Amino acid sequence: MYQREKTRPLKIDNVAIGGQNKVIIQSMTNTKTKDVKATVKQIKSLEDVGCEIIRVAVLDMEDALAIQKIKEAIRIPLVADIHFNPDFALAAIKSGADKIRLNPGNIEDEDKIKEVVALAKDKKVAIRIGINGGSLNKKYEHSATAMIESAKDHIRILESLDFHDICLSFKSSDPIETIEAYRLAAKTFDYPLHLGVTEAGGLLDSAIKSSVALGTLLLEGIGDTIRISISDDPLKEVIVAKKLLKACRLYKDTPTLIACPTCGRIQYDMLPIVKEMEGYLNALNKDITVAIMGCPVNGPQEAKRADIGVAGGKESAILFKKGEIVKTIPQDKIIEVLKEEIEKL
Ligand code: SF4
Repeated sequence: MYQREKTRPLKIDNVAIGGQNKVIIQSMTNTKTKDVKATVKQIKSLEDVGCEIIRVAVLDMEDALAIQKIKEAIRIPLVADIHFNPDFALAAIKSGADKIRLNPGNIEDEDKIKEVVALAKDKKVAIRIGINGGSLNKKYEHSATAMIESAKDHIRILESLDFHDICLSFKSSDPIETIEAYRLAAKTFDYPLHLGVTEAGGLLDSAIKSSVALGTLLLEGIGDTIRISISDDPLKEVIVAKKLLKACRLYKDTPTLIACPTCGRIQYDMLPIVKEMEGYLNALNKDITVAIMGCPVNGPQEAKRADIGVAGGKESAILFKKGEIVKTIPQDKIIEVLKEEIEKL
């Protein structure tokens, strides 16, 4: 088993990141932050599926001030994402943001940087420096090494002000470059690392790219928080993140679904059952394994480790628990019975 890298521990409100703490799942709202009602609604749905830290975009003063009302209505820590404008950062911190994402090197006014850092220190607000492949300072050629050098420029500013509640991200849209950048970062810095592949595309593309990049890094012990960027409903980001962490044995409270690909031996209508059960299980916070198998020849045996499962017969299925057959269920009752049995687990 791999060893988690030890990074400098950090508290984001009541959530501990870094050190040997568990890997934390983040997502980002896609509502207008100033639309408090819509933003709170989305954050609450994200909390329900397992999001542990939420980031909101701050584009103007109205967004920054909306944070106060949003914070009153949500349970998880909030990160304010700010580009360039230190006044928005000051307002976001005063409104109760638990962390800000800000690259200090992009702000020209040194006094303003000092003011933001002093306030962040006073309010115990962490700062994430986010280096993206596409937004590197023009003095650097695009590469993983350049991302690290660019981060050093920003870190130097914070450290010169004796500020160390820092976390870092090095997202590229290319999974291999992402891996290279984070490996270098883990060697270079001891600050916690927020992992992600940026602009990763739709659900399928992002799940693949993120699994390659983040899976590789997590299995090397690198990464303290993760976000799966998907061009879709952010709820899907959290679900993919949970599945990815569970596959890496870094997360428990989500079900594992075992399902065969089906073949010519199948005699019942299995695929609609898989589809329905996938959605149902995604909303469940239970550490269980559920199997949906095509036929009884291999089904119960191959899925022996499942807590509960079905294997298809002729327009029916057998229900089995830990490899032991319990009963036969007619096709139209399979979903209902499976859900009932899962409720009991
Ligand atoms: S479990 Fe049965 S139906 Fe599914 S792939 Fe295996 S042999 Fe085919």
